[in-house]
Amino acid sequence: MDVTLLGTGSPIPDPNRAGPATLVRAGATTLLVDAGRAVLMRLAGAGVLPPMLSAVLLTHLHSDHLTDLNDVVTTRWVMSPAPNPLTVYGPVGTRQVVEGMMAMLAPDVGYRLAHHDDLTEPPAVEVVEVAPGDELTVGEVRVLVGGTDHRPVEPTVGYRVEHDGATVVLGGDGVPCAGLDALCAGADAYVQTVLRDDMVRMVPMARFHDILDYHSSVEQAAQTAARAGVRVLVLTHYIPGIPPGQEAEWRARAAAHFEGEVVLGDDLTSVSLA
Ligand SMILES: [Zn+2]
Ligand SMILES: [Zn+2]
Repeated sequence: MDVTLLGTGSPIPDPNRAGPATLVRAGATTLLVDAGRAVLMRLAGAGVLPPMLSAVLLTHLHSDHLTDLNDVVTTRWVMSPAPNPLTVYGPVGTRQVVEGMMAMLAPDVGYRLAHHDDLTEPPAVEVVEVAPGDELTVGEVRVLVGGTDHRPVEPTVGYRVEHDGATVVLGGDGVPCAGLDALCAGADAYVQTVLRDDMVRMVPMARFHDILDYHSSVEQAAQTAARAGVRVLVLTHYIPGIPPGQEAEWRARAAAHFEGEVVLGDDLTSVSLA
């Protein structure tokens, strides 16, 4: 199983970091978890084109995590030689978001259907709304859905992906909670979106401080990893973006609470699990 950080950015625009998105490749199954800004550019960088995706999994409906889902849908549709339905898993509310997105795309779909004789059907998107405790089979992988705590954003979920003895947890956004601990228990890798609370506190803007209470700090992510006994902690969605040369400082903050391997870095940083 290979886990690739497609986008390590956050809502803050960054020329070098795409929005939140993570790729999980396991056997013949390819999962896209969240679909933030510029996801298709990073997918291409990882050697994956949209028709190759087995499914999209959304952790929650914050815009930074799905702003380019429409690009995934449209580009998969126009690049597939035959109908190639896309399944989008996500928490309750995903259906409403996808329906609105499809309404936004309606003019474009009309133009392309009228212009291409061999394109006879609109893009097919199947939405499956999930809840904590659900177990899914997607291609060759087993996916467990767990509850996360990103309140007041609700509902939000994390995913535990298992294949051939390897396990990765995609925690999405949120603070430590029992549901996340349970989802992570004994996993090979745990991917968590994080912020640096010390740096966020220095920004003289109240709206920025609001994000402190619903995101894990680097230290909290490391504590979750330690409690759950995971082998590799993967940090992403850096708030603020890690300036060049400061990776070691971020890593040290995690290492103070977690003895395992800590992975962080630029977009397309990848981890191979047995
Ligand atoms: Zn969020
Ligand atoms: Zn986010």
